[in-house]
Amino acid sequence: MTVLASSPSMDDIGRLLQQRYEEAVEQVRLEALARAELHVTLQGPGDVADAGLLISESAQQELVSAALREQLQRLEAALERWSAGTLGTCESCGGQIPPGRLEIMPWATHCVPCQGTAGRNR
Ligand SMILES: [Zn+2]
Repeated sequence: MTVLASSPSMDDIGRLLQQRYEEAVEQVRLEALARAELHVTLQGPGDVADAGLLISESAQQELVSAALREQLQRLEAALERWSAGTLGTCESCGGQIPPGRLEIMPWATHCVPCQGTAGRNR
């Protein structure tokens, strides 16, 4: 992960986002390949114990896959906001999200106080 200077500019955040997005696309691609392989294994011959293990692996894979796709969507949305020039504006209070927070979480849609409130509501 790239560590930026203390106060990253929006250009820096944009580059960071692009980089994270490309990484996420690659992860989703690799994960899809792993899933395809697992699927083939599941359909193949094997005893019941093996099948049980594989099914639990498959369920785990499902969770990983969902998390990866969610992350990708977040990054995609953040890139759109960045292009539109609205990235870094809190969706709740309209305040500025500190660049330091965007550097760690470029997909952040809320400032720290609002995120805290949203987190409790969800
Ligand atoms: Zn806010």
